[in-house]
Amino acid sequence: MRPTDLLTLTPEGLYCPPGNFHIDPLRPVPRALITHGHSDHARPGHGAVLATTETLAIMAVRCGEGFCGTRQAAVLGEPMRLGGVTVTFHPAGHVLGSAQILIEAGGCRIVNSGDYKREPDPTCTAFEPIACDVFITEATFGLPVFRHPPTRDEVAKLLDSVALFPERSHLVGAYSLGKAQRLVALLREAGHDAPVYIHGAMERLMALYETLGVPLGDIRKVPLAEEAGRGTFAGSIILCPPSATQEIWSRRFADPVTAFASGWMRVRARARQRGVELPLVVSDHADWEDLCTTICETGASEIWVTHGEADALVHWCTTRGLKAKPLHMLGYGDDEEAAAAENEMPIASEGATEGKTP
Ligand SMILES: [Zn+2]
Ligand SMILES: [Zn+2]
Repeated sequence: MRPTDLLTLTPEGLYCPPGNFHIDPLRPVPRALITHGHSDHARPGHGAVLATTETLAIMAVRCGEGFCGTRQAAVLGEPMRLGGVTVTFHPAGHVLGSAQILIEAGGCRIVNSGDYKREPDPTCTAFEPIACDVFITEATFGLPVFRHPPTRDEVAKLLDSVALFPERSHLVGAYSLGKAQRLVALLREAGHDAPVYIHGAMERLMALYETLGVPLGDIRKVPLAEEAGRGTFAGSIILCPPSATQEIWSRRFADPVTAFASGWMRVRARARQRGVELPLVVSDHADWEDLCTTICETGASEIWVTHGEADALVHWCTTRGLKAKPLHMLGYGDDEEAAAAENEMPIASEGATEGKTP
């Protein structure tokens, strides 16, 4: 069977005709297989959804209990028969519950990675390279300039700063699904036992991670401004959605050191532009080297690139004698980390902050 008979691009997204399902569809479809819970991959309104238990739970929290008609849990590593194809979910190491999806029929194997990373992450199962003929990859950081440093070094930087400035609070912008929980887990691993404060918007996902067996220690919601005296948060780490560091909400904290945890913090200009004092290069996507290594490890002779810096990665593949093409899938890549790349997160300009007359 030719790969394009097994998986084809439709307006709704990647479609498998012999299995009659879509993977991470961009519009509502009768049957969807979902790789992970980020909003550009996991959308509400499908008839039936097949995903890992964790992804189903994340979708229910983010999109509401009625996010689809019927749901079915996929177990990592267990092949399932869907129509004329066999489907197996394998860990992607991206966020809790994230999976690559392997589709097999007529001797052809295609793996759709969803999003993935190779750096260790205590909050999710580590990525496994799966042998295949066609590997479908993201390319969020698909340029040679992107080399993520070891995450644990970045977390050590944050703890060093807390030790150095005990009178200041540390306000860390981090995406609410995956990044925030990973940071907390890494802080705990580094021996930081103090309470970690969170913005209310993160409360439900933090609680869900705990319910799903990821211990995060003493997590406390930042109390309402009236309840919190000034200086309460000196020496504390507070996590919030990236945009909240610019909002009125953040003014209650004592002389905060503003930090932002993102792969994009590798780009100095971006950190400066956002007024980030302490950039932390912590990414849930593979960097250039890991993208290239992974492509080689799958043994695939053909590479399809869904989103990100597709052209550079496609070019690299062709220089290695691999067949490669960009899928130009608009609608992906507006997930949380990629959104920062496009500056979709509001950046308050000076003097234009709410409640402040110029
Ligand atoms: Zn993602
Ligand atoms: Zn994505």
